Amino acid sequence: MLKLPIYLDNNATTPVDPEVLEAMLPYFKERFGNAASHTHSFGWTAEEAVKQAREQVAQLICAEPSEIIFTSGSTEAINLALKGGYEMYQGKGKHIITCVTEHKAVLDTCKHLEKSGAEVTYLPVQADGTIKLSDLQSAIRSDTILISIMLANNETGVIQSVKDIGSLAKKSNILFFTDATQAAGKIPIDVQEYGIDLLCLSAHKIYGPKGVGALYVRRKNPRVRLMSQIDGGGHEKGMRSGTLNVPGIVGLGEACRLCERQMSGESQRIRDLRNKLESELAKLSGVLINGNTSHRLPNVTNLSFAGVPGKQLLSEVNRTIAVSSGSACTSANPEPSFVLKAMGLEDDIAESAIRFGLGRFTTGEEIDYTIDTVKKIKTGF
Ligand code: PLP
Repeated sequence: MLKLPIYLDNNATTPVDPEVLEAMLPYFKERFGNAASHTHSFGWTAEEAVKQAREQVAQLICAEPSEIIFTSGSTEAINLALKGGYEMYQGKGKHIITCVTEHKAVLDTCKHLEKSGAEVTYLPVQADGTIKLSDLQSAIRSDTILISIMLANNETGVIQSVKDIGSLAKKSNILFFTDATQAAGKIPIDVQEYGIDLLCLSAHKIYGPKGVGALYVRRKNPRVRLMSQIDGGGHEKGMRSGTLNVPGIVGLGEACRLCERQMSGESQRIRDLRNKLESELAKLSGVLINGNTSHRLPNVTNLSFAGVPGKQLLSEVNRTIAVSSGSACTSANPEPSFVLKAMGLEDDIAESAIRFGLGRFTTGEEIDYTIDTVKKIKTGF
């Protein structure tokens, strides 16, 4: 039976998978030890669980376990990668390249670094949301130390050509950081093949708990070093001190394991549902699909409803369907999405956009209901 409201905001966050919760529970109860307690079995049990989670996270992105640093989520991992990278390598140069449609966690960290003397180039995007490689190429300077380009965008799902970016970065001897918060667990990622030096991911986007994530830090070819941003007991190779969040880390590990196991079947099922939703709604007059449709995550579609007052449409839909106009972090902001504006959309078209984010627990029945409901609401305007 269809249960309302329907949740189609899986890019903002996902529910915890029951298997993930099951895996976590013992670490709140009898296995409560501190993973840094080396002298007794409570500590060893916790340490063993963290070790396993590190392997599970590493495996999802084809990295080595020793290259995984646990954090409180992607925002912290981004801060560590960008600030820690800048502070470590600023002797070599002060120039960073990023892109205007990055998440605020990247953009605001770059703004912070500019105040400390960094020079940041913000690449524009094309109408389909991708950057032009030739723009990246010409932005590279002799003092560029870091390129930060997200793998997939949180509002449109558009995937950047990270493999080309990685090889360009390698050729120019520049570190390449990618924010894979939205992409991890949804599409295959291979940090070796893509030439990625630093990558962040977050458990709550992949059916794990909130408040835990990871930063991949390359250890070979080249060995990447970062200045710690949180000092203390020297946990996580001194890069991120603080007692490890063992239940959260176990949850992240299990979430990664499940994603890896289910990815191909799950993404096909979700893609089919997304395509059905999109093609049905695109039949309505004035509906536009935002972003590149062939290089895109399987679970998201961002649609503009031209001629409809944006906020009104969203609030009508929100009565029974949880969707958003874009990033949750900026949902309190009345301005149209800066991501869509950067892609060249007029204010009113950007304002009428709705992001539909499907997920592991989305059903065909929910999609049918969404199609009917949105059609009815749209025709009522
Ligand atoms: N980067 C992207 C692309 C995101 O979508 C998000 C989440 O909203 C973040 C970073 C921040 O992640 P977290 O919530 O783990 O701090």
